[in-house]
Amino acid sequence: MKLAAAEIDLSALAHNLRCIKEMAPSARVMAVLKANAYGHGLVTIAQHLQDADAFAVARIDEALALRAGGLTNPIVLLEGFFNASDIPILLANNFQAVIHNEEQINALEQAQLDGPIAVWLKIDTGMHRLGIEPDQLERFYLRLKNSPNVKPNIQLMTHFSCADDKQNPKTKQQIKAFLKLVDNKQEQLCLANSAGIIGWPMSHGDWVRPGLMLYGISPMVAKVGHNHGLRPVMKLTTKVIAIRRVPANEPVGYGGRWQSDKDTMLAVVAMGYGDGYPRHAKNGTPVMIKGQRFGIVGSVSMDMITVDIGDNQAGVQIGDEVEMWGPNLPVEEVAIYAETIPYELLCNVTPRVSYEYLNAKK
Ligand SMILES: *Cc1c(COP(=O)(O)O)cnc(C)c1O
Repeated sequence: MKLAAAEIDLSALAHNLRCIKEMAPSARVMAVLKANAYGHGLVTIAQHLQDADAFAVARIDEALALRAGGLTNPIVLLEGFFNASDIPILLANNFQAVIHNEEQINALEQAQLDGPIAVWLKIDTGMHRLGIEPDQLERFYLRLKNSPNVKPNIQLMTHFSCADDKQNPKTKQQIKAFLKLVDNKQEQLCLANSAGIIGWPMSHGDWVRPGLMLYGISPMVAKVGHNHGLRPVMKLTTKVIAIRRVPANEPVGYGGRWQSDKDTMLAVVAMGYGDGYPRHAKNGTPVMIKGQRFGIVGSVSMDMITVDIGDNQAGVQIGDEVEMWGPNLPVEEVAIYAETIPYELLCNVTPRVSYEYLNAKK
């Protein structure tokens, strides 16, 4: 009997990419595959995103893993390179670099290369993480334009800090600041992450950079993927491995953190923080068994969680499948109970979970 499993629905992945193309019909798509494709499996996900125009990752090792997996698509390194010795690796593997500081420009100018690499110049319009200052743009742009180590088209990008919140005026300010800065340049522009694609059509530009929404999940405040026509790609499941009765007022689990005010039945399910389920998920965090929602109770332990199934057991049997999140239980909702974001829950799924890929296109 397979216990903790992540079913990855590749037809949902393809559907979500089509949705993105419908939402941003004039933009090309850079599919963001960092952090093991948000916990979905880097190479397999990439193999099933051949209709994307490019891939984007955070680290060179992730990009090399894609090449080792046989993928020949353009790959953008979202943080560029961190060391001059990486530049020849970029050229050899046809990786594109996001350039976000002067040290990288110095290194590029000084590199001894057999050919140019493609770059994206990232401008900080208010995120204040990576990116050159707006007043550095003209100077750095010209230096890149004049370097024989850089391909002639300098693509321009920025990143949003608050696009998940439609009420926040910051995104519009960032879009306006960026478009004004780049107005005199005939270059490809890229602004939008998933939240930009969904919430801010004026940010679509020439390229979009969806991560989370590819996996069917909504980045927007108080929304789930389904609200935007997306389908969750991951279904995280396990099984009921024991059912027991507990009397009223009897503390359950590590630390005795929970007790029922009446006699009840508990289902013990084989999933815990050792599988990446959040240890801080509160009492009442939902799971689905046989089409019914139940709440978890007590401490999440490494391998198991207890679920209150009520005094009549609700038809639950040992061996029943338990959906922890997926198409019937949005991970967005679980994230709220765990006081985190769906991104973290997806990334945290551990290698102990067995991955199954379904509905691959023949
Ligand atoms: C991770 C990342 C994205 C994708 O963001 P989502 O919210 O997952 O769509 C886009 N751009 C950059 C620079 C990123 O780091």
